[in-house]
Amino acid sequence: MSTVSILGLPIQNVTMAEAVEDVYPFLSERKNRIVVTPNAEILQAYATDPKVHETLLQADYVIPDGIGVVLASRKLGTPLKEKVAGVELAAHLIARCERDGKRVYFLGAKPGVAELAKANFLKKHPKLIVAGLRDGYFQPEDEPQIIEEINSLNVDMLFVCLGAPRQEIWMVEHRHLLKVGVMLGLGGSLDVFAGTVKRAPRWMIRLGLEWLYRICKEPWRLKRVMELPFFLMSIKKRSQD
Ligand code: UDP
Repeated sequence: MSTVSILGLPIQNVTMAEAVEDVYPFLSERKNRIVVTPNAEILQAYATDPKVHETLLQADYVIPDGIGVVLASRKLGTPLKEKVAGVELAAHLIARCERDGKRVYFLGAKPGVAELAKANFLKKHPKLIVAGLRDGYFQPEDEPQIIEEINSLNVDMLFVCLGAPRQEIWMVEHRHLLKVGVMLGLGGSLDVFAGTVKRAPRWMIRLGLEWLYRICKEPWRLKRVMELPFFLMSIKKRSQD
């Protein structure tokens, strides 16, 4: 598997089709693999927050889920092939799971959202086995029960949608307790699958403007995103430090 290093983080240099081929075997290998889907904001947290840094380095497979990550790779002179959106990777993997009878579990989002996502998936993939689901507003004391449930359900693919970087930290800290094939940190993807949040129109995604759409919909993101051009401009210097 070929990777591009951004500040020491190995990011897969793959197309979407290649990412599906790489990740799908993790389900059968059953080694609690961790897939993370950083955008430029998370990359910035990786560069500035030691906890996030240490966490992301524990992942088995890192995909560039943001045009900012692709731009950073270009700036460093080692361009990534393309943005690989976690939400799209998840949709491809779900189709394979239906085909092969693999078992999925959705952890995260507000109460009721995972249920809606399940209902939408079943419309498109009637044979999909959703082994279980649980909202993402649990307390630390609920975790042993959640882990026991996931382990008892023989889950092949676990979506962890708790927002970044909580989901990445959660996956790394609980990996040794879990028995799954792969877990994917997918941010707000359950909201998209549920239809409670819309993705940007295709033309905006194609032009690399999905971030702009999200700011228009969720203006509170603006302050965080404003810092990113400065971060991206400084990335070459940081990589030389
Ligand atoms: N979320 C959750 N538990 C929490 C906080 C957030 O399950 O304690 C969910 C939230 O409902 C949403 C997702 O995590 O579905 C975060 O989505 P967002 O698009 O903000 O992802 P980010 O950009 O933070 O990765």
